[in-house]
Amino acid sequence: MSAELVVKDLHVTVEGKEILKGLNLVVRQGETHALMGPNGSGKSTLAYALMGHPNYVVTGGDILLDGESILGLGPDERARRGLFLAFQYPTAIPGVSLANFLRSAVSSVRGYKERARADGNADLTIGAELMPMREFRKEMAEKMALLNMDPAFARRYLNDGFSGGEKKRAEILQMAMLMPRIAILDETDSGLDIDALRVVADGVNRLIGPQMGVLVITHYQRLLNYIKPQFVHIQLDGRIVTSGGPELALLLEEKGYDWVRAQYGEPALASGG
Ligand code: ADP
Ligand code: MG
Repeated sequence: MSAELVVKDLHVTVEGKEILKGLNLVVRQGETHALMGPNGSGKSTLAYALMGHPNYVVTGGDILLDGESILGLGPDERARRGLFLAFQYPTAIPGVSLANFLRSAVSSVRGYKERARADGNADLTIGAELMPMREFRKEMAEKMALLNMDPAFARRYLNDGFSGGEKKRAEILQMAMLMPRIAILDETDSGLDIDALRVVADGVNRLIGPQMGVLVITHYQRLLNYIKPQFVHIQLDGRIVTSGGPELALLLEEKGYDWVRAQYGEPALASGG
């Protein structure tokens, strides 16, 4: 069955403050969506809420995957059902290579841990909870070749001195290994250089297809020079205020966000109403 992520009238509060105020969005497997909006409009809040981050409290509405609410599920279970949020971000973990991190992530998402426990092997056999090394290595090598990555990169320690571009490369490799049904990529607006943008875009372009739906979250139009979304949504003050095709992103590039605020922003509160 084709996956469908439905965000329905979502209200989310962060530290007691309402950030998402009735957000609606549908992303299906095989579709590429871009979510754009000015800083502070709540784009990252949506990404965190989708993955079930505990600080992002859903106070209204629903998030459905394949017609079923996932609000009661933790991040691990959401990942097992095929949601992916580019990792945000286990800061440097001393002594853990990217390969080991990925093997652990893949094993968790594919249920090796549960099977080992069910078989009673989890505590008996070292590595029983993990995808077999030989299989994992083979698959990782294939994915790295697909993404034009140097195999040596997987031996690096996680995030230890990773450049912005390398962090993105690691995210994309993780995405390639997990092959989520719906992937959420938050560009975090933190001034990615062109090299990092290209890494993301080339990777995403290689991975998108009928098996994957992608929601690319970005403040900047320039990423969309490399990733061509079918659907573009503009978020303002906790809601998606308008949606369209790629032409909407071009309009933003041309005119900035001012017209969005003028057209869709809340009227001044001076009236007291
Ligand atoms: P965007 O990604 O569109 O720039 P964010 O979702 O990061 O927007 O932030 C939206 C609003 O929520 C901002 O006003 C921000 O200050 C607030 N916010 C987000 N995360 C937190 C947090 N962890 N603690 C407190 N406020 C937060
Ligand atoms: Mg953000």
